Amino acid sequence: MTIAPRKYSALDYIRIPFRTHPVLSGMKALIIIVSALVPSVKIIGTASFVDTALDIFKNGGYSRIYAPLLLLALISAYTYCIGIFLNLINTRLTLRLGEEFRTAVTEKRSRLEYRHIENNDTWELISRVSNNPEGRISGGYEILLELLSIILMVGGILIVLAAQVWWAALAIIAFSVPLFFVAVKSGKTNYEAFKNATKYQRKAGYLEWVLSGRENVEERALFGYTRSLSERWYKEYETARKITTRTQALNFIKMKSSSIITIMVAVLIAGVLLIPLGNRLITVGMFMGLVNACFNLVQMMSWQLSYVMHQLANNNEYLKDLSAFSMLEEAEGANDLPDADIGRHSLESIEFKDVRFKYPGTERYVLDGCSFRLDRDKHYAFVGINGAGKTTITKLLTGLYQDFEGDILINGRSIREYSQSRLKALFSVVYQDFAKYCITLRDNIFLGNINGVDDERIAEVIEEIDLSETLARLDKGLDTPLGKILEGGTDLSGGEWQRVAIARTLAGNAPLHILDEPTAALDPVAESKVYELFGRISKGRMTIFITHRLGAAKLADEILVLKDGKIAELGSHDDLMALGGTYAEMFEAQRSWYA
Ligand code: ADP
Repeated sequence: MTIAPRKYSALDYIRIPFRTHPVLSGMKALIIIVSALVPSVKIIGTASFVDTALDIFKNGGYSRIYAPLLLLALISAYTYCIGIFLNLINTRLTLRLGEEFRTAVTEKRSRLEYRHIENNDTWELISRVSNNPEGRISGGYEILLELLSIILMVGGILIVLAAQVWWAALAIIAFSVPLFFVAVKSGKTNYEAFKNATKYQRKAGYLEWVLSGRENVEERALFGYTRSLSERWYKEYETARKITTRTQALNFIKMKSSSIITIMVAVLIAGVLLIPLGNRLITVGMFMGLVNACFNLVQMMSWQLSYVMHQLANNNEYLKDLSAFSMLEEAEGANDLPDADIGRHSLESIEFKDVRFKYPGTERYVLDGCSFRLDRDKHYAFVGINGAGKTTITKLLTGLYQDFEGDILINGRSIREYSQSRLKALFSVVYQDFAKYCITLRDNIFLGNINGVDDERIAEVIEEIDLSETLARLDKGLDTPLGKILEGGTDLSGGEWQRVAIARTLAGNAPLHILDEPTAALDPVAESKVYELFGRISKGRMTIFITHRLGAAKLADEILVLKDGKIAELGSHDDLMALGGTYAEMFEAQRSWYA
């Protein structure tokens, strides 16, 4: 199943479950339809039971009661058992929808253009759509079936009623119409409130994670922020709760006040039915069956119908979200594997030609006429203050954003002509906020080259990046789960995690290695050491160091100083020191860090 880009309609609440599991979906529909006819049969059963009983008192013949009694018993048994069976079907259907529909949503999510992930509005849309998607679809299907069931139930009872006293049936129809509109309106308000509340719930959820996750346990203890964050969490949680409660209370009052009116109507109808009873137009049994059915019907009108209409409106809003989500642009080839054919010598040059770029939805050009050229096998350092746009250069280079002006040439060809799988194979990046995967050490390294990396290469990488001692300490060697999540997991130090992230980069065959300040947590001297080690390992490969600390930059063959969206200075450390510009100034300011 895939989430095709189109407008989704209520029909999809039927289409998707049937496509996922036709048998379960069909059984569910059948049960609900059969159950909907039960109340009409019950009127006839009750009438027959009461009339037969009354007749027995006059004329005897006790055995005549068995048939209507059996009918009523069967109806009760069916009602009792079918609920359990239906629950079972619901659970299985929802699980299957989880496997298929949730997977489709998750896959679509992973293919989205990167800008949708970084943009707040689209990210909220994505979060709403991915929140329990299987529940939304199975709930949507359920509500449609319930609507059908109500129509059948009401229709059945009205037919029996109309066959006896036609105008009573008409009266009920007239009263249900206004109720219908109240229900639809309250459904809409409710979803708006839900949308509003998710914003606060997300913030609260994040704070909860910070407050209770194992990840942050050291910082929590050190900084003692628990109390103040708890207060913040409580505030977000309270805001979300208040919004939801307020709307629900309002709807409750609205629904209840309209249902009081309907109950009065039911009493009125029951009173009116006394007239045909007095005129012997209907039997006592039929009178009891009808009055009972009328009360049930009214109950259903005021509660179930309101609930169903309200949910329908709710589900309609989800469909709007789903449609908008389905139409979010996907990055072509986002889930393609890196091209296995690209070897370490496939990169000759990279050239930025007058590149201008601003993030979607912003006005400021982060890169504004940025030009430079990088050649094979050399080591480069991009330096500049925080926010100068260094990481942005890597985002453009790795194809995360394509809507830039100017051109980026790789081996003389525009980056726009490259497929995602080729781009992925060309670059390996260790990011500032590199991932710490709580899986085994072997898998942590393997992820860097899913086209295949054998244990021999893993052993080499571990040796190169000085992780041998760490490995020796792990009780299950390469198969030791890392991190704090898995049972038996061993946590690593910050520096060791960095090395694991770098090992992942090395495991690949990418001709360009980019190190984007993954060492920000280290002191400047330790950082320089990591860069030095990395430079040594990456010898004979194009390498980019990104840093605002110049100790590491010194190791590069060429340094590019980024300022005001352009390359302001270019040259070796000595050249730039002699120039006496921005670089020299920054270096002097940082000199004491390395003393
Ligand atoms: P550096 O790596 O040099 O510290 P970045 O390339 O990360 O800087 O960021 C450059 C500028 O772009 C900063 O002003 C930053 O706030 C802005 N920026 C980064 N990412 C986004 C984004 N997704 N949306 C809007 N602005 C962004």
